[in-house]
Amino acid sequence: MARLLIVGPQGSGKGTQGVRIADALDIPAVSTGDVFRAAVKDGTELGKQVQSLIEAGDLVPDELTSAVVRERLAQDDAARGFLLDGYPRNLGQVADLDAFLAGRGEQLTGVIELSVPREESMSRLTLRAAEQGRTDDTEEAIARRLAIYESETAPILDVYRERGIVDTIDGVGTLDEIAERIRTALAARDIVGA
Ligand code: AMP
Repeated sequence: MARLLIVGPQGSGKGTQGVRIADALDIPAVSTGDVFRAAVKDGTELGKQVQSLIEAGDLVPDELTSAVVRERLAQDDAARGFLLDGYPRNLGQVADLDAFLAGRGEQLTGVIELSVPREESMSRLTLRAAEQGRTDDTEEAIARRLAIYESETAPILDVYRERGIVDTIDGVGTLDEIAERIRTALAARDIVGA
């Protein structure tokens, strides 16, 4: 069963690769960033709560984020597996996810770490800012998000490394090259498409 997490600094291409893997395995990709952005765009109650945090590059509080994920994973299509993108993002969220999955007799089966040098993610983010005009792709918010990644998100990889479920993938290359590296790593763990 594929219950996966993709982790990497902003600008590592984790969103793009996450969707590719999820499609190949026929499981839903669950991106908390996408859920929050859609809520802001639609002007929902959730959107109003998170908008200023996202624009500043800060994290949304754990209780709110974990509740959103629990609700999403409770839907039928996630019963056969899922790929999480952007959650958990700190140790508190790891504990929340562990508790939720344990309640279903489940655990994560694989973590893909996309490794990209800082200068490369900075330049990709700056390019994306010019192309897509994301409101949190300002220079200040980008720096804030990368700092949070290093201080809060990178430590979650140590926890998953101890469990022996992390594959670190070189995230520099063409989309196809990186996708192939991920596919090979998952196949080595016997995680293959349905
Ligand atoms: P992303 O698209 O993953 O870069 O997420 C965009 C923004 O959404 C982040 O900078 C945070 O403000 C918020 N966000 C996404 N996922 C989380 C999470 N797991 N915990 C807290 N905030 C999050």
